[in-house]
Amino acid sequence: MYNVAFVEDEKCVAQKGCRLCIMFCPEADCIRLDTRKMKAFVVVDRCKGCELCVVVCNAAKHQAILMAPVNGATGEIMLDKQKAEAAALGQAYQG
Ligand code: SF4
Ligand code: SF4
Repeated sequence: MYNVAFVEDEKCVAQKGCRLCIMFCPEADCIRLDTRKMKAFVVVDRCKGCELCVVVCNAAKHQAILMAPVNGATGEIMLDKQKAEAAALGQAYQG
């Protein structure tokens, strides 16, 4: 079990042009823009849990990213049901 970043769609303002987390994440292709929803999302198996994205998102007062434990064996994020479903959708979308 380790922590990964997770974007809460309802708080993310990527549709207004924010790309801070995408620009600051040190891992290549780790946070991407979902161009259908216009929200940032985290590619779970690339995230190293450094929390830099949380820092920059909070610094901009959006507070849209939280850290959540993920099951290393299954890749399942331990969020409440609704957020876990959203995460699963995000992963499916990334293909
Ligand atoms: S920094 Fe926060 S508000 Fe901006 S795109 Fe990333 S998650 Fe969304
Ligand atoms: S925790 Fe670090 S590696 Fe993971 S998405 Fe955020 S900035 Fe990228």
